[in-house]
Amino acid sequence: MAQPFWDHPEPLAVESAPVPEYGSGSLADLLPTLAAGMGVPGMAAPLAELGPADRNCVFLIDGLGWEQLKAHPDEAPFMSSLLSGSRGGTGRPITAGYPATTATSLASVGTGLPPGAHGLPGYTARNPETGELMNQLRWNPWTAPQVWQPYPTVFQLADAAGVHTAQVSSPTFQNTPLTKIALSGGTFHGRLSGEERMDLAAGQLAAGDRSLVYTYYAEVDGKGHRFGVDSDAWRGQLMYVDRLVQRLAEQLPPRAALYVTADHGMIDIPFDEQHRIDFDEDWELRAGVALLGGEGRARHVYAVPGAQSDVLTCWREVLGEQFWVASRDEAIAAGWFGPQVDDRVYGRIGDVVAAARDDVLITASEREPKESLMVGNHGSMTPAEQHVPLLEVRS
Ligand SMILES: [Zn+2]
Repeated sequence: MAQPFWDHPEPLAVESAPVPEYGSGSLADLLPTLAAGMGVPGMAAPLAELGPADRNCVFLIDGLGWEQLKAHPDEAPFMSSLLSGSRGGTGRPITAGYPATTATSLASVGTGLPPGAHGLPGYTARNPETGELMNQLRWNPWTAPQVWQPYPTVFQLADAAGVHTAQVSSPTFQNTPLTKIALSGGTFHGRLSGEERMDLAAGQLAAGDRSLVYTYYAEVDGKGHRFGVDSDAWRGQLMYVDRLVQRLAEQLPPRAALYVTADHGMIDIPFDEQHRIDFDEDWELRAGVALLGGEGRARHVYAVPGAQSDVLTCWREVLGEQFWVASRDEAIAAGWFGPQVDDRVYGRIGDVVAAARDDVLITASEREPKESLMVGNHGSMTPAEQHVPLLEVRS
C-alpha cells in the first residue's frame, strides 16, 4: 500500500550515527601517544600500535580524507606506497572527530582532547555569554582565546618536559587565536612555500635529541571547496602534496617518525534543490530558530527559548533519513563530541544538532553566501569526510 503523502519517512535513529573513535582511533589521540613515547609526563598512549620514537613529526594535510587518498593512487604514488607497505611504512584510517571541520580538528590535534573538552564544536558556534555566533576558524567576533580554550596544548607540555618543539606553517597563521589555543608551545616558524616548510620541519626535527614538530599544508582543501574532489585542480594539489611528503620523508634524521594525517575528508554536493536545502528559503526549518550555526553538513540549531522541542520535531520530519537529527542532550549522550562535554562548552552546542548522512547540505544563501556555493563540503560522520589517513614513515 502506498504511503499517504503526509506520512514522512521514519527519522534516523540518533544511535545509528557512526560516532568518531575517541580514545582509541581519533585525531585527538595522536599527539598524546607520540608525547607519551618521548616520556612527556601525564600522557596516555591510546594509539598503542605506534611504536615510540625520539623525534616525531606530524604533517597535517588540510582536507585529504582517507577515501580520497585511496581513490587516487596515480596522483599520490608516494603516499600510496606507504599504504601498500612497499617502503616499510604503514597506513590506516583514523576518525577526525565531530564535526569534521578544520577549527575543531586542529584543536583536537593540538590539545589531544575531543571537541567536548577543548570547546571548538564547529565552524561557527554560539557563545553562550553573548548569545552571538562565533566563527571558530576566523575567531570572529574576537573572544579571549584562553577563556574559550583553557587547556594546555601537547606542544606546551612537551616543551615543558624538555622536548624540542616547533610548528612550521604559513606566516599568515603565526599570531591567530586558533594557532594560540591549538598550536602554542615551542617556536612557530612561518614559511610561504611547501618545500621550505618541509626542509625546515626536517631541520627542526634534527635540532633536538627528542623533538616534536608539526607542519601543515592548506590547498588540497581549498581546491576541493572551489572545484570539487577529483577536479583537475584538486588532483594537481594531491600530486604536489605527495611530492612534499616524499621530500620530508627523505630528509628524516635518525630515530625519527613522520606521521601524515588530515583534519577531515570531503564530499562533493550536486547543485540542485534536492541536494541543497536552503535554510533561508525554507519556512519550516526556520520556524522557532534564533541562530543557525555550524556548516552545511553539520548544523548547530539554536532555538528561540521554549521552542527547542518543536524545532527538533520539525527538523526530524523535514530531513527524514537524510540527516541524523539529535537534541543537544541526545548528541552528547551518544558521544558525538567525545566521552564528556565540559560545562563551559554545553551551551555552545546547538539545541538541535543535524549531521548529514546523504550527499546533502543545508545551505543558507543569505547568511552564508560564499559557503553556500562550495562544491566540496565536509563536517559530518560519513566515511568520506570523517576518515583521515594516519601514515607512518620511519627513518
Ligand atoms: Zn575545508
